[in-house]
Amino acid sequence: MSDYLFEAPVIPALPVRGERSVYPVRRIFCVGRNYAAHAAEMGVEVDREAPFYFTKSAFMAQPSGSTIPYPPGTQNFHYEMELVLALGKPVFKAKRDEAMAAIYGYACGLDMTRRDLQIAERSKQRPWDLGKDVEHSAVLAPISKTADFGAVADQRIHLEVNGKSRQDSHLSDMIWKVDEIISHLSGFYHLGPGDLIMTGTPAGVGPVVEGDVITGGIDGLDPIGLTIGPAE
Ligand code: MN
Repeated sequence: MSDYLFEAPVIPALPVRGERSVYPVRRIFCVGRNYAAHAAEMGVEVDREAPFYFTKSAFMAQPSGSTIPYPPGTQNFHYEMELVLALGKPVFKAKRDEAMAAIYGYACGLDMTRRDLQIAERSKQRPWDLGKDVEHSAVLAPISKTADFGAVADQRIHLEVNGKSRQDSHLSDMIWKVDEIISHLSGFYHLGPGDLIMTGTPAGVGPVVEGDVITGGIDGLDPIGLTIGPAE
């Protein structure tokens, strides 16, 4: 045990359906523009040569059901409903047919985004950290183990704000499939247990304000919810 200078932060962890133990989060990778209709609404073309990524600190993880403050520095705070992969085995330079074995389970996630800052950063060819690596912005529902969820196919993925439908698509609309994402990303990182991959959002992203209640789901997974509180 190290003699820390100050109290070390507690590692965020997610509940797992049917397990007493929790899943400790190590890293959060996010795929950009993985649904063609969302890329179009963002005014950009899909790069079909390779997926691209940004990251959120594991300490941005926030459990489903929370109320989070409206974050500072933005006038356009957006929801993005996503399928999250939770890895459970080491995977490095994996071929597509080896990649699936690394998945421990799946969860619903919200990639909450300061859209105005992300777009400003993008237009200046700067990193997206202020737009994406936002405190409380990786909202995560409990994990379902791979055997309980089954194959990623054409499950419905949807999100509502105050009960009104905002995003409604299917996992089959993902441009980069789950095995392609893991295979590609494992060419750059020693991926492994505790690593989450948020796989991108369908069309229909939009702003939320104080008092809004977000709900979402993916067929076969625990649903997700989030309430937007007052600005800090
Ligand atoms: Mn996203």
